[in-house]
Amino acid sequence: MLNVGLTGGIACGKTTVAQMFVRHGACLIDLDKLAQAIVAPQLPAWQEIVELFGNNILLVDGSINRNKLAKIVFTDKEKLKKLNNIVHPRVLGEWSKSLGDIEKKNKKAIVISEVPLLFEANLQNMVDLSILVVISPEEQINRLMTRNGLTEEEAKKRLESQLPIEEKIKMADIVIENRGAPAETEKIVAKVWKELLIREENKRKNYFGGK
Ligand code: ADP
Repeated sequence: MLNVGLTGGIACGKTTVAQMFVRHGACLIDLDKLAQAIVAPQLPAWQEIVELFGNNILLVDGSINRNKLAKIVFTDKEKLKKLNNIVHPRVLGEWSKSLGDIEKKNKKAIVISEVPLLFEANLQNMVDLSILVVISPEEQINRLMTRNGLTEEEAKKRLESQLPIEEKIKMADIVIENRGAPAETEKIVAKVWKELLIREENKRKNYFGGK
């Protein structure tokens, strides 16, 4: 099994690129979805979050209003840290569990884990290699404003909480440019997929004598 971490700034195209890999046959783990499941009403993480932020961050059905929570923590670093301390350890536990489940079923699987803050949270040691999706910060702000209905100022704030793209490029094993049309990105992904297949086979051969 090859364990790949797919990362990139917000709205750079991680989900878009991840879906392209899935069409080639990759197994997908979405850490954002794992995080959402962890904070479902009444679960321990939900209880801790409500204790910290109060009932007014809840929607009428009792689930956490993620937009409201995001607006609070992106302007308050201390609260962001506390929220991360509640959510991150639990997400890591679920992630390891998911990886183990996939490996049990398919030793040759190529797992793409979508991890928005792979570098910021120092999670490189959780994966065999990292893939970074990049676009320019200007395009990132445009796509973020369109997709999330944010003002330019709010979009810029979200970007500020992430490492600058140049720093991430230095840390990434593979960089995928998503600046052009989706068809262009598809071509890059197809090439990278071939490389991942080779890396998976090499890893298995080294570890298990190719079995
Ligand atoms: P992320 O998962 O990194 O937040 P998404 O994959 O959701 O990013 O992409 C952000 C937005 O940009 C989405 O609305 C998506 O449809 C759009 N998008 C992604 N790739 C491209 C592309 N190559 N050209 C134009 N729009 C794109």
